[in-house]
Amino acid sequence: MEINLIKGKIATVNVDALVISLFEDIKQLTGLAKTIDTSLEGGLVNLIKDGEITGKLGEMTLIHTLGKIQAGRIIIIGLGKKEKFTAESIRYGIGEVSRLLVKLKIKTAATIPHGIEENNVDAIAFGEAVAEGMLLGMYQFTRYKNNGKKIQESNLRELQILEDNKSKASLIKQGIKRGTILANATVTARDMGNEPANIMNPTEMAKQATKIAKQFNLDLEIFDKNHMEKLGMGSLLAVSAGSNQPPKLIILRYKGDLNNQENNLAICGKGITFDSGGISIKPAGGMGEMKGDMSGGAAVIAAMSAIAQLKPKINVMGLIPATENLSGGSATKPGDIVWSITGKSIEIENTDAEGRLVLADAIGYARIQGQRRLIDVATLTGAAVIALGTTTSAVMGNNQSLINHLLNAGKSTGEQMWQLPLFEEYKELNKSKVADLKNTGGREAGSITAACFLSEFAEDTPWVHMDIAGTARTNKTKGYLTVGSTGVAVRSLVYFTESLANESS
Ligand code: MN
Ligand code: ZN
Repeated sequence: MEINLIKGKIATVNVDALVISLFEDIKQLTGLAKTIDTSLEGGLVNLIKDGEITGKLGEMTLIHTLGKIQAGRIIIIGLGKKEKFTAESIRYGIGEVSRLLVKLKIKTAATIPHGIEENNVDAIAFGEAVAEGMLLGMYQFTRYKNNGKKIQESNLRELQILEDNKSKASLIKQGIKRGTILANATVTARDMGNEPANIMNPTEMAKQATKIAKQFNLDLEIFDKNHMEKLGMGSLLAVSAGSNQPPKLIILRYKGDLNNQENNLAICGKGITFDSGGISIKPAGGMGEMKGDMSGGAAVIAAMSAIAQLKPKINVMGLIPATENLSGGSATKPGDIVWSITGKSIEIENTDAEGRLVLADAIGYARIQGQRRLIDVATLTGAAVIALGTTTSAVMGNNQSLINHLLNAGKSTGEQMWQLPLFEEYKELNKSKVADLKNTGGREAGSITAACFLSEFAEDTPWVHMDIAGTARTNKTKGYLTVGSTGVAVRSLVYFTESLANESS
């Protein structure tokens, strides 16, 4: 499927369908909608009067034009209230439209830019949102169904965006290119998160990272168990002890600022390819979802692929500690004490709190490697789902400026985030009677104490943490999100990285 910018008049363009967007509660039709309405002898105005078209976000109305204009069909998509309009409205609306186009077996469609310069949505953001909405909205994971056949095979070849203004058209084009890179990266993360755990094990994650490193020219290191033992990553290895799958620490490096090695950032992603809880085993119901416990790691691999293409001026180290958390005979037991790479001892009170254990060593190693800023992304705590539900990721950290970079990234990408506090008192809850730390803080403030645990390894390095336990998967297809893995955090990580690069240049 291609998204192309072309010149021309929409009413005469030779496509199967026109896509027209409208704000909610519009009183008067203007521009394209008005032209179409005239061709349809007031057809649109009547539907608005009758209340069939309201312009509510995501509302779609299909109109058959019966020869009155060139295109056989018109899809009216609601963008919601004008004052609430953002690039996310377009991403969401186009996501909905993409599936309708597929369902109707449309081959070619055309639309015009709508909403540009409204509420700071510029032409680049528009192009980006259209590309993301289309490519992510049409996403399906069907590799294991009917010989990989799509549930609804897509005939869609082209979406044309009509724009006569040269400079606007070139900005939209830039946006489409960006959006395509970001959407493809998100698809990479979704695919990885949707694969079952018998396929997407640590070795397979390392293979995916290798493929991406080669394709986009990133440096790659993969540490095996021996190497991790030598480095003293006792915390990470404690998690892998109960599994036959060999653990991997995957490290990708992007060199965007060779002249300034200090201008760097480490991105860590939790790569638990299956989390049974270990000896502190989880209840059976819904355990299969735990194949997605590597979504943070997948997001990092995917984000690195986009960063390599968009080339921000900053050095980025991506770290993915990848392992299973199982309860085999050699598994770590509650009460065991292990040493992390930084020398801190950890009492493992609950083996199901394993994400923080693997991240502790990854974060520790990143600091040893001289990384000046840290971010981690993890499906870390069920408590994040209790606190914020499935539409919002929890954000915490030790540096408000870095946190703000991430929250702003979330605003640009439409990935909702909310900051939780890391007050000193919470740290008390991670205190162990027998070791420097324990890996659970009890039932209270579970997302916060998990982050507090990580902060012990970030120490004084600016660090921000994103808990995507609630947002990594969805059971509802809506807007540009489709059932299964969402690929959350990929786009925000890229925006975050770019904004750090812009700040330091
Ligand atoms: Mn767990
Ligand atoms: Zn987990």
